[in-house]
Amino acid sequence: MNENNINENETGKSNFIKDIIREDLKTNKNDGVVATRFPPEPNGYLHIGHAKSICLNFGLAAEFSGTCNLRFDDTNPSKEETEYVDSIQEDVRWLGFDWEDRLFYASDYYEQLFDFAVLLIKKGKAYVCDLTADQMREYRGTLKLPGKESPFRNRSVEENLDLFNKMRSGEFKDGEKTLRGKIDMSSGYIVMRDPVLYRIQRTTHHRTGDAWCIYPMYDFAHPLSDAIEGITYSVCTLEFENNRPLYDWVVNEAEAAHKPRQIEFARLNLSYTVMSKRKLLELVTKNYVSGWDDPRMPTIAGIRRRGYTPESIRDFAERIGVAKADNMVDIALLEHCLREDLNKKAQRVMAVIDPVKVIIDNYPDGQVEYVEAVNNPEDENMGKREMPFSKELWIERSDFMEVPAKGYFRLSPGAEVRFKHAYYIKCVSVDKDSSGNIETIHCTYDPVTRGGWSEDGRKVKGTIHWVSAAQAVTAEVRLYEHLFIKENPDDLAEGEDYKANLNEDSLKIVENVFIEPFVKDFKAGDRFQFDRTGYFCIDKDSSEDKFVFNRTVSLKDSWGKTANKSA
Ligand code: ATP
Ligand code: MG
Repeated sequence: MNENNINENETGKSNFIKDIIREDLKTNKNDGVVATRFPPEPNGYLHIGHAKSICLNFGLAAEFSGTCNLRFDDTNPSKEETEYVDSIQEDVRWLGFDWEDRLFYASDYYEQLFDFAVLLIKKGKAYVCDLTADQMREYRGTLKLPGKESPFRNRSVEENLDLFNKMRSGEFKDGEKTLRGKIDMSSGYIVMRDPVLYRIQRTTHHRTGDAWCIYPMYDFAHPLSDAIEGITYSVCTLEFENNRPLYDWVVNEAEAAHKPRQIEFARLNLSYTVMSKRKLLELVTKNYVSGWDDPRMPTIAGIRRRGYTPESIRDFAERIGVAKADNMVDIALLEHCLREDLNKKAQRVMAVIDPVKVIIDNYPDGQVEYVEAVNNPEDENMGKREMPFSKELWIERSDFMEVPAKGYFRLSPGAEVRFKHAYYIKCVSVDKDSSGNIETIHCTYDPVTRGGWSEDGRKVKGTIHWVSAAQAVTAEVRLYEHLFIKENPDDLAEGEDYKANLNEDSLKIVENVFIEPFVKDFKAGDRFQFDRTGYFCIDKDSSEDKFVFNRTVSLKDSWGKTANKSA
């Protein structure tokens, strides 16, 4: 499978939705048309769960030579904003998908939806109701008890038309009246008990402004928007299963020319992650994170800033597949997909995160030489670069042990190791400060081991990375951990809220990290593998004076290490 080519026709794994489509194509059910849509409500930023839906909808269209629309389901003006509309488009594009000229808004259909509502009234299938929200709840009944009919249910068609027009022209107060479908107050499906189709709400809409004071409900607008666009497969998450009878009722009663089919699949749940927009919004507005694009957020914007690649997310979506039962996916799988992709792509550089100074006593003062380093051992085409080597270097504090533990093969007094791509280096002594902390490690180098190899066949067990002090770029590095401490952040003790499971150590900022000068010419968003440490990318907070790197993911892959994991 070619992960970079999302237009490839045979896109791997099958699933029950593809089976349905193949069956329909055989019987020529929709004249061979496959039309899907991704229908976000612009009330927040997209997250990794949405990415699953995006990959699915656009993926089906690509695989079956169909189309996928991007439609904003913007029927709730109080929560919707242009900022979200813009971010959603940016995110879908970044994931690698193209809606071409098919960008739509449910709000574009308000006039048509109004006409559909009038048609329902004329057919005796909708009525204007004066019950308050509380009364309506009382009348609705429960799963065990049937509902009671509204006293306004039998208004004449004329009266309903008149009242509905008056609702539109602003003659009633917010909430004073609703338009309801006249369906069945004793239906086993609560949604079929005369659902509200329109409400009065004086809120400025992000696109239609104050043109309307009535707004269609989602359950009315959504199926009809699908029908208007000629969608054949209205793919949504499982929580809409109970709404399907209403979806079908609306499409049928409105006599829409196209009758889309709603198909539900299991939403993505990811360990150590919350995906509810309400919660994500709260994390942002209450400053638990720095914004929607905080690299710890599961939003596409956050993940992108963190250094994820779109290919890794598409690969992840493909591997988790599409099923009908809810489950929780291990975030280690997402990270595994990321590592696999970055391993192939990421430029290697050397960076020292917790530095200690090394002085090569027998190296000429003031001399700088350049040693050759491969940019990516996985990809010859990425070429080589030159790294400065000199008398004063930085190495990781953890790569030196004064009294080496058993099996410790890195630097220690008397021991010889390879400084990767450079020389064999031997430790001769250490300088300590007054409290006994090591300040400087004195070493000697063997000039005939240039490149990190010895001609006399002498072997060293340890290889460590290093950065030449004089030329090093100084950077701030942000190390991230999961945002939540529990696999399921909604696993709560009594009286707790999900925020009780926030990980207080999810961000650790390390100043004075030294990186080889090669990174100087790169820009925000560029990704690297810091040798032996992990994958990092340059953050947008970087400036002329200061480099900031995000740790995208460490090198250690825990996917598959635990028993019985399968993708
Ligand atoms: P809400 O409706 O509560 O605001 P939502 O997450 O459902 O939140 P939408 O904007 O309605 O947000 O979602 C757009 C599409 O993405 C829908 O078709 C929805 O089913 C799908 N989707 C949302 N969350 C997930 C998820 N975790 N996994 C898969 N698909 C999802
Ligand atoms: Mg939704």
